[in-house]
Parts: sequence; structure tokens; C-alpha cells
Amino acid sequence: MDFSILLDSDKCRGCTNCMKKCPTQAIRIKNEKAVIDKNKCIYCGECIKACPYNAYSPYEVNKNDFVETKFSIAIPSTALYGQFPKGTEICNIQNSILKLGFDYVYDESYAAELTSKAIARKISESEGVKPIISTNCPAIVRLIKIRYLSLLDNLITVESPMEIAARLAKHNAHENFDVCSEDIKIYYISPCPAEMLSITNPIGTKKSSIDSVIPLNSIYGDIYREVCKNTKLCNSTPSIKGIKWAIAGGQSETINVSSYISVYGIENIIDILEEIENGKLHDIDYVELSVCTEGCVGGIFNVENPFIAKRNIDYIIKNTKETFNAGISDEVFNDLYEKNFFDIEIIKEDTNKRKLTLAEAVERMERIEQITALLPGLDCGSCGSPTCRAYAEDICDGHADLYGCILLKANKKRLNSEEL
Ligand code: SF4
Ligand code: SF4
Repeated sequence: MDFSILLDSDKCRGCTNCMKKCPTQAIRIKNEKAVIDKNKCIYCGECIKACPYNAYSPYEVNKNDFVETKFSIAIPSTALYGQFPKGTEICNIQNSILKLGFDYVYDESYAAELTSKAIARKISESEGVKPIISTNCPAIVRLIKIRYLSLLDNLITVESPMEIAARLAKHNAHENFDVCSEDIKIYYISPCPAEMLSITNPIGTKKSSIDSVIPLNSIYGDIYREVCKNTKLCNSTPSIKGIKWAIAGGQSETINVSSYISVYGIENIIDILEEIENGKLHDIDYVELSVCTEGCVGGIFNVENPFIAKRNIDYIIKNTKETFNAGISDEVFNDLYEKNFFDIEIIKEDTNKRKLTLAEAVERMERIEQITALLPGLDCGSCGSPTCRAYAEDICDGHADLYGCILLKANKKRLNSEEL
């Protein structure tokens, strides 16, 4: 899988809504159908939200293949806990997942707490670069790789809780159930196309430890039915610090840095990244960025409204006794940290484009300016590009021609007829 979003061209009517919402200008309308440039896509899901015809959907995975797996581990994203009615016990949700046929459920909140510890340590050891930017949202890392290459060194080099959870879950299963690693498959239940893609196209150099990602909305109904049947009392013991990662700002709170900002929503994020790129915000230690509204509780494959899901998570946080059950002592944590267990090495090279020489880049820029000056500047989208400037780039790169602009074409006809 090299893509996590499917576009059904039979449903697409070429309305341009998705094209106008795409933050990286990855969409064009060709022959009245949307086309996505995979090299520019950051898997933020804005196009899915914008499409009035439901033409976009998650890449289809066989969500039941875990039943055939020798030893299947489910890791639900902490965002899943916000999708059930207020007061639903986490252990009830986990038991319901087990009833679907998984052999073991690992709680991501434990890994998230350890990730916070690793980030805090990295920040305390870091020298110079400020502010440090979070890396758990793969859509953000992709955005920085595509548009803000100068900020790559600001990214915190710690793996996401999702990956840390997968490694710990595999280790636990191996130790506690006497099952060999080759027989274990890890299924992550995710609210997010960016996470879905990151298992086959990781943002770092290490191979993902997750074998398959199940879109949360494709399995939610099955879990919910089991949750409703389950009336037994249980006693949830998540890591409260880890649960906070599901909501915007929760990560920074648990890292305990003195100065941080938490920003969500792609337009706000672009503003902040531009400020950082312009040399501002040096007085901030940590910038936590999540593409989705209110953080991962707003992920596009969730089922609940993000604000209600956040309220549900807040309820869990307030009504659960603070525990830490990852089973990892400070000594073991230190040992893992020293062995770079939490580290991620971000792939830095921009593999999407052939590097232009400086002279070529200047020449291209001048040509784009010349073409832009010929266009009407209405950004109407009828040429199939999101803005006149983007259309000028497409013409310059040989992907479009000048008279795809209907206004220029009309003017050309008028001039021709006047000449006649
Ligand atoms: S997922 Fe985001 S970046 Fe990719 S095409 Fe859709 S809107 Fe554009
Ligand atoms: S905020 Fe969370 S759910 Fe949304 S794109 Fe980022 S990682 Fe995925």
C-alpha cells in the first residue's frame, strides 16, 4: 500500500471542493475528476471532509484477517476511548476488542507515557535548536518535509506512541504468552490516514513494527455491539498521562516543559510553521502540532464529534485513579533510552523532486512569474488548479497549457474574431 486514501472517480463530480481545501495543493481536476499527486499528499484527510459526494474513503484492508493470525495483538489508538458514551470503562472497550477474536490488547496509553518521558529527556539534553516540534502526527512531519525543509532539525527525534506501543506489545506477548515473534501480528486501530500510510511509508528510517492498520470507523460498530452486551464491572487501569495524548495539549502537559504551545487545524499550523521559519518563537521550548481538530480525537476515521470525544476523554482523566502500568521501571526506561529504543531518525532527503540547480530554480521562478502575470488572478479553479499561481507552475512544468484558463481562452477567441 503506497496510499491510504481511495478516490472513487465514479462518485467524483469534479466540484473542486477538495482541491481548494488541500493544504499542499496536491489535487488537480483533470477531465472533470480529481487527481491526487501522491508526492505532495500529507494524508491530512481535509479532502475527505470537503467532498460532498463521499468520493474519498480509507484504503480497504481486510479487517478480519486477524482471525486467521496465530497470535493477533490489537492496539487501539487512545482516541478510541473518546468514541463511546461518557463513562464507558476502558477495560470494557478492551474486553470487547478481545471478544472480536484478538489474542491480546495492548493499551497505547502506557507507551504514550513513556514517550513523554523520552521527549522530556531529549528536550533537556537538546542544545541550540528552538522551538522543538512534535513528531507524533505523521501528517505534520510530511508537511514539513514538503514545504518547510529548513525546520527538519526542529523535529523531536522520538518515535510516536503508536510505534513504541507496538514494540512493547510484541515483547510482552513473547514474554507472557510464550509465543514466538514471527507468529505475532500487530493491528493498530487508527483514526487517521496519515498513521495508516506510515506503516508502509514510515517517516523515519526504521521499519514500522505494526503489521496492519484498521481504520477506526470500520471496526467501531463491532466493538460497540460488544460494549453494549458487556455489563460486568471492571476496573480500568490506563496511564492517565498517556490518555492525555488523545487530545491537543495533553502531550505537552505530560512532558512538563515550561514554555509550550499546542496548535491544531492545518491553517493555524501553517501560520505557526511560517513564524518559526521566519526566525520567531525562540522563546518557546516545545510546539505540539496536530492536524485534526482537538488532536487525534478529531481524526477523520473517528465516529464521534471531536469536541464530544474530547469531553469523554476529559471525563476519563478526571474519574480514573492515576496509575502507571507499563511495567517499566526507571532503571529499565534509562537502559532503553540509552540504547536508543525511543529514537527516530527522520528521513531528511526530499526524494520527491529532482534537485534543480540554483540557476534552473531562478529561471523556473522567473517563468512562473511571467505566466502568473498573464493569468486573471481570480483563483477560480476552473482550470483544474487551486490558484492561478499553482496553474502557472503546472504550465511551467509542462502539465497544463495556457488556454486551459477559460478566461484567457475566451479572450483569445474574442481577439481572433476581432482580427477577422
Ligand atoms: S489528504 Fe490532505 S494533502 Fe492529501 S490530497 Fe487530501 S487534502 Fe490534500
Ligand atoms: S492529529 Fe492525530 S489523527 Fe489527526 S492526522 Fe495527526 S496523527 Fe492523525
